[in-house]
Parts: sequence; C-alpha cells; structure tokens
Amino acid sequence: MPQPQMPAMTNWRFEVDLEGIGWLTIDTPKSPVNTLSRIAISELETALLRVEDLIASGEVVGLVIQSGKDSGFIAGADVTEFDQMSDPNILPEALKRAHAVMDRLENLKAPAIAAIHGFCLGGGLELALACHYRVAVNDDKTRLGFPEVNLGIFPGFGGTGRSIRQAGPVDAMQAMLTGRMIRAGAARGMGLVDKLVRHRDILHWEARKAVLQKRKSGPAPLIQRIMAWGPIRGQIVARMRTETSKKARKEHYPAPHALIDLFEQHGDDWRAMVDGEAAGFVPLMASDTARNLRRVFFLSESLKKQGLRGKEKPVFARVHVIGAGVMGGDIAAWCALRGLGVTLQDLDMERISPALMRAKSLFKKRLKGRTAVNSAVARLEADPAGKGIARADVIIEAVVENLEIKKKIFADVENKAKADAILATNTSSIELERIAEGLRDPSRLIGLHFFNPVAQLPLVEVIRSGFNVERDVAMGASFALAIGKSPVLVKSAPGFLVNRVLMPYMLGAVERVEKGESKELLDAAAVAFGMPMGPIELMDTVGLDVGASVAHELGQSLPDNSRFATLVAAKKLGRKTGEGFYKWVDGKAQKGEVPAHGDLAALGRELVKPLVDTTEIVVGEGVVASADLADIGVILGTGFAPFLGGPMQARKEGKA
Ligand code: NAD
Repeated sequence: MPQPQMPAMTNWRFEVDLEGIGWLTIDTPKSPVNTLSRIAISELETALLRVEDLIASGEVVGLVIQSGKDSGFIAGADVTEFDQMSDPNILPEALKRAHAVMDRLENLKAPAIAAIHGFCLGGGLELALACHYRVAVNDDKTRLGFPEVNLGIFPGFGGTGRSIRQAGPVDAMQAMLTGRMIRAGAARGMGLVDKLVRHRDILHWEARKAVLQKRKSGPAPLIQRIMAWGPIRGQIVARMRTETSKKARKEHYPAPHALIDLFEQHGDDWRAMVDGEAAGFVPLMASDTARNLRRVFFLSESLKKQGLRGKEKPVFARVHVIGAGVMGGDIAAWCALRGLGVTLQDLDMERISPALMRAKSLFKKRLKGRTAVNSAVARLEADPAGKGIARADVIIEAVVENLEIKKKIFADVENKAKADAILATNTSSIELERIAEGLRDPSRLIGLHFFNPVAQLPLVEVIRSGFNVERDVAMGASFALAIGKSPVLVKSAPGFLVNRVLMPYMLGAVERVEKGESKELLDAAAVAFGMPMGPIELMDTVGLDVGASVAHELGQSLPDNSRFATLVAAKKLGRKTGEGFYKWVDGKAQKGEVPAHGDLAALGRELVKPLVDTTEIVVGEGVVASADLADIGVILGTGFAPFLGGPMQARKEGKA
C-alpha cells in the first residue's frame, strides 16, 4: 500500500498498515543492539512531528514503537557518546531536547504503545514509559531496568518521574537505586508493563489490539502513591539513605544519593521530578566516578570481544570436571546452569554427592520454573569412572593442589580425550609448565583459573604456559565467554594476576594485626578507601589455608610463631570453619567496635598501596598485556574500587 512520506532516517523505519496503525521500528545501524544515540533521538523527534500530522489528518490512528532486532527493544542511551555529552555546554541542551521528544510522544493525540521484547533498559525503558501503554513478551529474555547507577548517573530522559508515576515511589526508586534487571512478570507486577504476551509472535497482534482499543495505562494505585506524600516520604527517604549508604558511599558513588535528594524534593509530583532531573544529572555525568565507571564498562565489554570469532568460533557442548570439591563442584554446576552437558568425576560417589546437592540449590536460585531446574539437574551427571572424558569438548581439572596427582590425571586424560578437546587446570599456584611437562603434547594444557565462589565471581584467568600458542588461550577465552564469564589472559607466573596482587595487600594487613593494630580498624579503612571488604575479613573469607599456600608459593609466608600460622595450625581457617581472625556466625564476621581514627580513607590508601604497587610490577613484567587488562582483571577478581577505574588508573590519577 502507498506509504505516507517520512523524512529519511537511519535508526528508524516507519510504516502504516491497512488499519492506519503506524509502526515505528528502531534498528540501530551496524550494531547488534538498539541504542538511543543523539541521532536516534533527533530522528525520533522528526518522525513524531510527522506522526502528529498524520494523526491530525486521520491517516494514522495510533503508533506502535517496536524493535527490529532479535536482541531486544532498546539497551539504553549510547554510552559511547557519554564522554562528549559530559561537557556542561552540550549536556543540558541535549537533555532538554530528549525531554521534549519524550513529552511529544506522551502528548500524541492517538494511542502510543511500546511493544517490548528482550532488553528494555535505561533510556529504552524511559521511552517505553513515555508511551501510553506497554506490552511485553513474558519470556526468559525480557529484562527491564535502569542500569544508570552502574555508570554513575541516574535516568535522565524523564524516567525518574515516569517510573514513579507508573510503579509507585517505593518500587520505582528501588529499581533506579539498585540498577537491577527486572523480568517481564515482575515488571508487570510493578506496573512498568501493562500486558504480557507469551511469545514474540503475538506481540504485534497484542500491540495492534492495544491501539484499536485505545488502551491507556493508569498511574500506580493510591496506596502506593501515598508513600511519596508528606511525612511518609521523609521516612522513606531516611530508610533509602541508610540502605544505599551501606552499599554505596556518597563520596564514592554520588548518583544514588543525588537521586534520593531529587525524590526528597519532588517525589510527590512526577512532573516536578522530571523537570528537576537535569540539575542533578549534569554534574554526575561529568564526575570522576561516572568517567571511571564508563571506563570499567568499556573494559568489561572489550573482554567479550576476545576468543575465536566468526567461522572459527568453537561450540562447546560437553564439559568434564575432575575433582568435585569446593571449586570443581561449583565449576561443574555453573557449566550445567549455563546449558552445557557436564560429567563430574571424583574418587567416589560420596565425594560427588555434596556437589550435586549444592548444584541443585544454585539451579533453584537462578532458574525460573521446575522444568528448567530439572533439565539443569539432568545435565549434570556424576561420573566417578571418568567415562565423560572421551566425549568432552573441555576437561577441567580441579583436584587437590598436588603436582604429582595433577600430572597423573592429565597423563590419563590425554590418552582418552578427543584430539581437539581443551585440557585445562584450575590450579592456583602450581606452575603450568610443570603440570604440562608430563603430557606428550604439553601445548594442550592451559589454565582456567576460576574464583571462589564461582557463581558470584565473573572473572576467569586464562593462563598461558610457555608451551601454548595464541590459539590455545583463544580457545580458553572462547570457552569462558560461552559460559558467561569474563576471561582475562594471563601468563603463567606465580599467583597469576589476582592472587599476586592480593597477597601483599592481605599479608600486609595481617602483619599490622600481628603487631597489635585493630583488625576492625584496618577493615573499616579499606572499605572507606573503596574496597568491598577489608583485607582481614577477606583473608577469613578466602580461607587461611588457601592464603597460606598462595603466600608460600609467592615466597611471602609468615613465620611459624605468627598468629596467622597458629590459626592455620589450629584449623581456624576463617569463615568456612566458623573462626579465623574473626568468629563467624551465619556467614557474618562478628566484629567489635572500630576504634576512632582521624582519616580512615588515608589509612585505607596506605593499606591498598602494596596491591597497586604489585599491579604496576605485574604489568611491567608483561604478565598481563596492558594496564587496562590489569585494571579490569583486578576489579573483577578483587572488587577493587570500580569508581577509581582500577589500580593503574587510580595511580595515574594520584588517588592510590
Ligand atoms: P578441594 O579439596 O575442595 O577439592 C579437591 C577434590 O579433588 C576433592 O573432592 C578430592 O576428593 C578430589 N580428588 C583428589 N584426588 C583426585 C583424583 N585423583 N581424581 C579425582 N578427584 C580427586 O579443593 P578446591 O579448593 O576445590 O581446589 C581444587 C583446585 O582448585 C586446586 O588446584 C586449587 O588450587 C584450585 N583453586 C582453589 C580455589 C579456592 O578458593 N579453593 C580457588 C581457585 C583455584
């Protein structure tokens, strides 16, 4: 049918169907995901101006905004533009423009419907909230959310006020303050979405119905809205401040705190909240925190581009894990969770069973529905005889830290494994070359060093021995990516990257405690600097035995008469045994009072110095290829203050 004229656009397509419904489809050029770049927003404005005319002339009866990509609706604003946008001469104008476009959409004189599948995040969700009604696919891929706080900002396209209008202040603020991803069902429950459909095929149909029936979403129920009124708002604000400060200190992460300030001022008037957004947003965007969090974001994204690509990209279907202890059991569970078939070997069934039980509770926590849990359980098989070796694409050894045992295992594995299977060890401290020496083809062995707890820590150090070529470690990186982990390539050297930089930091603090300083004070100081946990608590969490063995490997052992050595000898190994430096109850360290101190953050900086110094040395030695890789590896592996952009960046900026 003849189409009304529409100015040329690169990000959007527009079509009117026989019923007069205008379908505006976003399809960001040369990108797997849609983003709201400045051009996309400006084209949207042009399109809406034209749609207004078409509505006025009766040629269009309503508008549906949808995505032309499988990956989802819109992943957010275009982060690559943020550096340029942080210029205070550009940003206020750009925000004003974006607000005007959202208002224009909301003020259309015909129904405007958002048809959502996949990711609908940040600016994408703000756009959807400016529509009159939202339909979303209720499947596992749909995720709504405001991840802005992770980039050191808060929603800036009117999403602060509009999310509160639709979902009520408590749920909306919670979503914006945490940046968490919300599934379709939960988003419907909150009021961010009005209607769910089961499949993407039905989305079109349901959006059409919404236009023809002139559906319009109402605001959140009164019972929720009153939470933003008068004294109740004051109470909620106080609670939000307390909760937020526990997770993100204002001096490190100002964005959530600025959002609470905005809510405190205007929380009962969504329009005033939208109008007040820019004043809080502009300084955040230009802050050091936001700049460094963007750095962390881009570095994490760059890790995903590693490994073999295109036609060479390997497919992994089966994994065999040897050793069903703390690490092996959890690695096996993680691989099964991510959809691979896994066989898990140990000396006998009794040693495998606890790992299977742990795996089941992980599946229950992470997967939706009994069928999904049962399928994951079925994917993970106990295999005491090691029958899975011959079929596996990847074989990961995670048995006790003993060279002879590991060598023996790999000699057997090499005989049975497929010719192209990856052979990997999870060793923390044994030189890879010494394990590989026992193989006929030592170049087959790489290291895949996971971190404990496997399900929570995203980093995998992919270790390259002197025998390996580029392709061997590229395969390892491909595998790590295939199971949703972030690979950092590291040369085989004692402690690799993460343990090498952590040890002098933790042992330095241990020595100070040995000399009589308060462990509570040192831990509080490191947290005040920006670490997620203090060094003594971390040592207890890692396990004093593990710490002792890594320290030994690095030649940094403490004397036999030290408190540390005494604790290890007494099997007071930290969290896992209920006592180490601290007593542990229900997974929590029982801490005493923190003694007064003039400048906690400065003390923290002093404590962290050995970590930063060692990172510089490691980069200098070429253990990791670049300062950037070291930064992201240390952030992912140790939680090092992301707002500082990593140890190397912090040093460069004189902050560590
Ligand atoms: P663990 O003691 O919990 O488990 C080791 C398992 O290996 C035990 O279940 C044991 O029965 C089994 N095993 C021993 N010999 C075997 C054999 N011949 N065949 C099959 N199974 C055998 O140890 P863990 O903490 O899981 O550590 C395993 C490996 O992972 C070590 O190399 C360690 O350095 C490394 N690692 C540990 C951590 C950590 O935090 N625990 C972190 C990263 C890497």
